[in-house]
Amino acid sequence: MPVTQHICRRCLLEELGETALVQSLEELKAALPEDEKTDSGEYERRLAICRECDALNAGTCVKCGCYVEFRALKERMHCPHEMKKW
Ligand code: SF4
Repeated sequence: MPVTQHICRRCLLEELGETALVQSLEELKAALPEDEKTDSGEYERRLAICRECDALNAGTCVKCGCYVEFRALKERMHCPHEMKKW
């Protein structure tokens, strides 16, 4: 019987088991100057909004093609949705 792999549209990289990308994300978090980095509360708020958004597809925003965990990390970035959700 063939094994069916289910892709979770509302999952982020860590839940998807994308270990190389998660490591890159951690490296970026460590390297980014504090004044460019989104504070942890705002970062979690942004990701919570992404999780509820129809534009999230397995860690990627279909509006811009970014991994949302990377996009949300930089304070100056914003959500590309026409409603500018964050
Ligand atoms: S459109 Fe905005 S809220 Fe939706 S997944 Fe993309 S970045 Fe997140």
